[in-house]
Amino acid sequence: MDSIMAQTLNEIAVDSPGRINLIGGHTDYNNGYVLPAAIDRKIAFRLKKNGSAQMCHIQSKGYGTPLRLNLQKVEKSSVEWENYLLGVIAGIQKLGHSLKGFDCEIESDLPIGSGLSSSAALECGLASGLNALFELGLSKLEIITLSRRAEHEFVGTKCGIMDQFSSVYGKSDHFIFLDCSNLHHTYVPASMGPYELLLLNTNISHQLSDGQYNSRQDECFEAVAQIQKQHPRITSLRDVDLDLLSSCKALLTDIQYQRALFIVQENQRVVDAAEALKSKDIEQLGSLLYACHEGLRDLYDISCPELNFLVDYAKEQNYVAGARMVGGGFGGCTIHLVHGDHMESYIKEISEAYKREFGIDLGAFPVRTSNGTTLRKLSDAAL
Ligand code: ADP
Ligand code: MG
Repeated sequence: MDSIMAQTLNEIAVDSPGRINLIGGHTDYNNGYVLPAAIDRKIAFRLKKNGSAQMCHIQSKGYGTPLRLNLQKVEKSSVEWENYLLGVIAGIQKLGHSLKGFDCEIESDLPIGSGLSSSAALECGLASGLNALFELGLSKLEIITLSRRAEHEFVGTKCGIMDQFSSVYGKSDHFIFLDCSNLHHTYVPASMGPYELLLLNTNISHQLSDGQYNSRQDECFEAVAQIQKQHPRITSLRDVDLDLLSSCKALLTDIQYQRALFIVQENQRVVDAAEALKSKDIEQLGSLLYACHEGLRDLYDISCPELNFLVDYAKEQNYVAGARMVGGGFGGCTIHLVHGDHMESYIKEISEAYKREFGIDLGAFPVRTSNGTTLRKLSDAAL
């Protein structure tokens, strides 16, 4: 970055990765722990100054007509994908920075809406590219924060901080143990021996998902409000342990108790998973993934038959260490820890079984951990 600032730059390329979250389901918006990693699938940007004071053109391959933009007039669009980018530009301007005309080409190999966080990759990639091109001097944390705000304010998705954080802070061959309450983070080597990461996409999205996602958040926050009656200093489920939760059981509805119990247990599982990784105990790591899935299914109640089928299938195979559903629930993806020697045959067999059961094609994406946002001078190595 420093070398980039030292010279006048007219053109830059940015690689902005997606992310997976190994474990830590729904803990981020409860100020808890997560264990994500940036992955080797990304959105690539080419950005160049175009000499204009205020006109910009942004073209994303596969997304039809380019976005033509006057920097004097950055407003929400009726075209969904444009809002992620407009929100970032508006956020940069809101911080008091001025931009000039630029052209941007975007190309992605990230599957969209599959829980790999293409939206955060899109936001953080543009923010990082503009930061370098116009020498704005934004810190990584500012990039993350303004990107998240873009998604909240321009798109309307109340996402936690994990997605943007992982896309920017990812490190090859590592997971990020992240405390969402204060963004304190450490890197945990992703040493999983012969085991590799596989993401399977159910290719279904039950209509329930958005409303249920918000209602799970509400139930967690209501549980905290009840617990506060006895423990005023508790501000999130992150501050609650199992003893405290059972002592407050009478204050909570059954549903609130179940949601809270899942989050309290899940926070502990993330801590345990980081330890299991450090000691290369992949069997223990896999059991934690299965336990996480059971909690999401039975206590958090956001699974569905298609997700359960994939995780149950994984349990039957001795070369799969663990699996769980990921993301908002009621569809989307599962993550699997699969022995590399069996990856190809596993994908084939589970895809056939899934098709027989549900008549739907399964999406399969083996993924590896990668570095976070990378800036490149065009035709140069990474800066
Ligand atoms: P996820 O982040 O899990 O992939 P989201 O629903 O949060 O799913 O974000 C997906 C949305 O992000 C897409 O519907 C689209 O609007 C936008 N998006 C993702 N990738 C691109 C891209 N390459 N170009 C333009 N818009 C994109
Ligand atoms: Mg997203």
